[in-house]
Amino acid sequence: MTSAQLEDASAGPVAEGPPDTGDQPKVALVVAAHPDDPDFGAAGTAHLWSKLGWDFYYLVCTDGSKGTEDASLTAERLVPMRQKEQRAAAQELGVKDVLFLEGHVDGELTHNRRLLGDVVRVIRQLKPYAVFTHEPTQIFHRESFINHSDHRATGLVTIDAVYPAARDRWNFPEQIEEGLEPHKVKEVFIWGNDNPNFPVDITDAVETKIQALLRHTSQFGEGTNEFLKFVRERWKDKDGKYYERFKRVTLAR
Ligand SMILES: [Zn+2]
Repeated sequence: MTSAQLEDASAGPVAEGPPDTGDQPKVALVVAAHPDDPDFGAAGTAHLWSKLGWDFYYLVCTDGSKGTEDASLTAERLVPMRQKEQRAAAQELGVKDVLFLEGHVDGELTHNRRLLGDVVRVIRQLKPYAVFTHEPTQIFHRESFINHSDHRATGLVTIDAVYPAARDRWNFPEQIEEGLEPHKVKEVFIWGNDNPNFPVDITDAVETKIQALLRHTSQFGEGTNEFLKFVRERWKDKDGKYYERFKRVTLAR
């Protein structure tokens, strides 16, 4: 940031572009707890970077079966409904594919070996350069939100999957025997962190992000004005632009 920007209270953050992957493929994996979380966390970035040649994949860890207040809506109906909504949102953004883990119930996620192995397997299959996920350590966000326990579990397992589990062939060696190879993720991007160091200017993508969120009709209906206002305000900075902010960690190894 220049000194002029420091003096100007209306100046926003200095926006960042996608990292230079060198000779490695531009592949990113967004690991999230529930359908709609990847869109809240990184839809704008996924859309913009996809247009620049990146292949984005979403991995949703739970079945999303508790995301309704409708007493008549059973998990049997809600789970496929939410998966369909997530696929439609991804399509809106240009995300290449959405994967769903099986057997992890919404609201009941813990840091366990089975979930770790499941995430490691996807990392070894897709070989992402960058992994995006939830903030795992903060329990409160901005003095007004509690960080859902599934979000914390997903963030922590994903980070542990990146390092060391996916990298080491003696972690989940049965996957190596099946033909997968260890994989080193180079960069981790965390959303929901109170000290982000990587703002992505999503001003050109904010309407697409909103369209993606509105695909989750089981969650937001047709999108009330109140919801649209919340979404716009949530990502808007004082300079009038919109940003998704991440804690970026570049792994030096
Ligand atoms: Zn969630």
